[in-house]
Amino acid sequence: MRAQPEASHFIGGTWVEDRDGAVFESVHPATGEVIARLHEATPAVINRALEAAHGAQKDWAACPPVERGRILRRAAELLRARNRDLSVLETLDTGKPLQETLVADAASGADALEYFAGFAPTVTGQTIPLGRDMAYTLREPLGVCAGIGAWNYPIQIACWKAAPALAFGNAMVFKPSEVTPLSALALAEILVEAGLPAGLFNVIQGGGACGTALVSDPRVAKVSLTGSVPTGRKVYAMAGEGIKAVTMELGGKSPLIIFDDADLDNAVGAAMLANFYSAGQICSNGTRVFVHRDVKETFLEQLAARTGRIVLGDPLTETTQMGPLVSQAQMDRVLGYVDQGVAEGARLVCGGARHGETGAFVVPTVFADVRDDMVIAREEIFGPVMAVLDFESEAEVIARANATEYGLAAGVFTRDLARAHRVVAALEAGTCWINAYNLTPVEMPFGGVKASGVGRENGHAALEHYTRVKSVYLGLGDVDAPF
Ligand code: NAD
Repeated sequence: MRAQPEASHFIGGTWVEDRDGAVFESVHPATGEVIARLHEATPAVINRALEAAHGAQKDWAACPPVERGRILRRAAELLRARNRDLSVLETLDTGKPLQETLVADAASGADALEYFAGFAPTVTGQTIPLGRDMAYTLREPLGVCAGIGAWNYPIQIACWKAAPALAFGNAMVFKPSEVTPLSALALAEILVEAGLPAGLFNVIQGGGACGTALVSDPRVAKVSLTGSVPTGRKVYAMAGEGIKAVTMELGGKSPLIIFDDADLDNAVGAAMLANFYSAGQICSNGTRVFVHRDVKETFLEQLAARTGRIVLGDPLTETTQMGPLVSQAQMDRVLGYVDQGVAEGARLVCGGARHGETGAFVVPTVFADVRDDMVIAREEIFGPVMAVLDFESEAEVIARANATEYGLAAGVFTRDLARAHRVVAALEAGTCWINAYNLTPVEMPFGGVKASGVGRENGHAALEHYTRVKSVYLGLGDVDAPF
């Protein structure tokens, strides 16, 4: 089972290899099998990608927006036509079950390309009457954008960054996570096939050092990172040094609040989606599940029964509901958190162990009686580990939900809509759901507050992050000079 690409990098519309770059492997985490061997980008490769992007961007910016949109729409169609192959590739690289990748990865990427394809021709400036004179504004692209991806949604992340960047006239050099390097290359090929001029979307491989080289290069005008908070701090600081625009999509420890009047069936389903989809490797997961004391035991009973029925196994089998974690290292990290939860006195309701002897599988795990000060309630675990905490009053749960450095997402389950809106208004989170969880349609801006990030992806909000405003004052009379 191999998924070896033609070469490690895709630059200037073509495959590029430089064997001087250190070799690294992509591993299928369900079996430990090596599915591809690639070379990290050398400084020469990084330079070539930036030159290609820089060289192509101005003509692209001058291309009519409707034309840019047409190309992106064609790319969306190609992604959809090849959804199965792309999904298998994503499953091999990430270990996420095919059941998910078929509907959530390339499909969501295609939505982003289609959305921004339609958005591009609608972008306009303002005219500002100033009496005799006037001013107008132009929305200009930023130039060359660097995209840096995490490993949990590789092609989705690449598309969520590439689609608005390209739609609004920018070029991009994208570095996928070194853990999941493959699908971004497939996207680059598809974009060129759809008619994207060479050099506008380049993919280079490597780890943190490669990312650093991109972020600190003066040719890069904007950095969009999806990753952890510690990486975000470093990248933001580096981008700040060059006064570059940033979008930071970082980690979270989001609260999901279930009131005593909630539809419990739905609340249990949402809590499971919020912790077990993608084996829990989702930034916006509601990993602190606050359940009202009066419904807690019923909630836990239903939750344990449904969690026990999750089909764990070969991610390439379509009936499998949960695959392995992305790597053995991630599995070890997650199991370490499980041990810590037990040691701190949380009640293990189900799971809590590795599944099988090969592959990075962790049994879906629920802890109850979790306290706010426990490590499993404070740190992002990024695995299938749910922490259930009890609460009694609305004011109490809002204060506890907000008592974290993170602020990516939050959810509220209640039949009382006045309460739902009141609570959501008080929550410190960039993305909230009422009686739903983790739905991220491209029409809706997505992003975090506090340490969870800066900027928004998707929706109209993305325009602010991939364009800049130029103001033009138009003098229509004589210059009134005191000299
Ligand atoms: P990570 O921070 O380890 O790596 C993210 C990317 O940054 C990788 O491509 C990595 O090579 C690169 N990188 C690392 N150090 C760098 C440096 N010094 N300079 C430049 N680039 C550098 O994150 P991960 O483990 O790949 O992904 C998991 C994390 O991502 C979790 O914290 C998760 O919450 C977060 N995430 C956030 C979102 C979101 O939209 N908010 C989405 C998915 C994942």
